[in-house]
Amino acid sequence: MPNPDQERWSRVKERLRTVVGENVFSSWFARMELESSEGDTIKLSVPTRFLKSWVQSHYAEKLLECWQSEQSTVGRIELTVRSAVIRTLPPKVKPVETLPVRSEFRDTRGFGEPRMPSTPISAVHEALGGSPLDPRLTFDSFVVGRSNTLAHAAAKQVSQAHAGDAVMFNPLYIHAGVGLGKTHLLQSIAWAGNAGAERKVLYLTAERFMYSFVSALRTQNALVFKDTLRTIDVLVIDDLQFLQGKSTQQEFCHTLNALIDAGRQVVIAADRPPSDLETLDERVRSRLAGGLVVEMGVLGEELRLEILKARVAAAKHHHPGFDVPLQVLGFIAKIVTHNGRDLEGALNRLLANSKLNGQPITLEMAEREVRDLIRPQEPRRVKIEEIQRIVARQYNVSRADLLSSRRTANVVRPRQVAMYLAKTLTLRSLPEIGRRFGGRDHTTVLHAVRKIEHLVGNDNALAEEIETLKRQLQE
Ligand code: ADP
Ligand code: MG
Repeated sequence: MPNPDQERWSRVKERLRTVVGENVFSSWFARMELESSEGDTIKLSVPTRFLKSWVQSHYAEKLLECWQSEQSTVGRIELTVRSAVIRTLPPKVKPVETLPVRSEFRDTRGFGEPRMPSTPISAVHEALGGSPLDPRLTFDSFVVGRSNTLAHAAAKQVSQAHAGDAVMFNPLYIHAGVGLGKTHLLQSIAWAGNAGAERKVLYLTAERFMYSFVSALRTQNALVFKDTLRTIDVLVIDDLQFLQGKSTQQEFCHTLNALIDAGRQVVIAADRPPSDLETLDERVRSRLAGGLVVEMGVLGEELRLEILKARVAAAKHHHPGFDVPLQVLGFIAKIVTHNGRDLEGALNRLLANSKLNGQPITLEMAEREVRDLIRPQEPRRVKIEEIQRIVARQYNVSRADLLSSRRTANVVRPRQVAMYLAKTLTLRSLPEIGRRFGGRDHTTVLHAVRKIEHLVGNDNALAEEIETLKRQLQE
């Protein structure tokens, strides 16, 4: 259901993506949604309070600027935290109920009457300074398949250990692409661990770690912050690739060493292996690589189907009429590839649609609803060095030329092409790309990307050249 506001919002997002880079964009803006636009005010929402305050304090101006370049009459952007409504619904349609939320009071040890702790687990967890936990992300709802068996087993092992047990692998480091279940596994550890109350398990996103540390420094509470962290039995850090800033990284390194040396468990997730965390100190990387490093692969079709079935079964508790024919599930599992988030999105749409129209779910409806979730096969991960090597060969210059400060035309253009390819074929941010091209500024990279984008539109020969390079790199 495209409407002008939504279309404008899509364009604003594209601008933002270029301005802040893919990494920043996907961590702070990917889950931002347009709620409404009234007069000169745009209302946007994000799923957590933390996201709201971070975006407000770091990106408010950029956001407004990007919006104003699409619509100059906008004067104000208002950010709200949305409640757990169906996220994929377009705005202005009244939200229907959410997919079921699991009770956090269940006895996760699986025996006896459901326990009713005096304080909910999430409250205890938040009091420790942890990031919010999603009650749906537990071991019970995690479907095990070929691509995640090892990661799941290791996570389970960590969550079942007792205080004082010898730690088997430390840190446990799980890496995988977006939407493949890292956060789900990590939060499962937090839920399971804190249900026992024997050990303190703290789940923190790397951003939260940064944010807490920086605010502790500001209020001169850094010591309290350090001490609190060092009393944790199991420290779980999500999205480590976003850990930035020298002093934060140092602090992280100290915490990591202190915990591991004291025999406490550390669990980490990131979107790449330790060796590829280029902005981290070499010592931290090797410490991270020294435990158990497990990769989770893409979700195979079978696993996708199982996840969908489990989701529907869970949804049925709250929406008894929610029937999805197996054929439809099979269809979604086939075409919505790779990403668990899109699977969830697809089901939410079907649920919303059947609730709003009261119609049974058919294959035809499914096809219509999930069309835009179909993505082409994800390209192979490409390394910046590879791009530099292949571009240098193509234009008959050396890789050193590309990294040098030479500004002759025969080097400038290949360098711009290489930067452009680095931006389009990798997930590296502009500043990171700048660093890898002889320590250039991110604005130089942005300029190169825009320049080539512009040229490709007008110059067929160049467009073809770039296509050929892309093919060579992705084969
Ligand atoms: P990541 O943190 O790796 O980006 P998430 O853990 O947020 O991914 O997973 C994205 C979505 O896919 C979540 O809704 C999650 O519950 C679901 N998901 C991913 N893997 C599984 C799985 N093995 N079983 C059940 N749900 C899964
Ligand atoms: Mg995640």
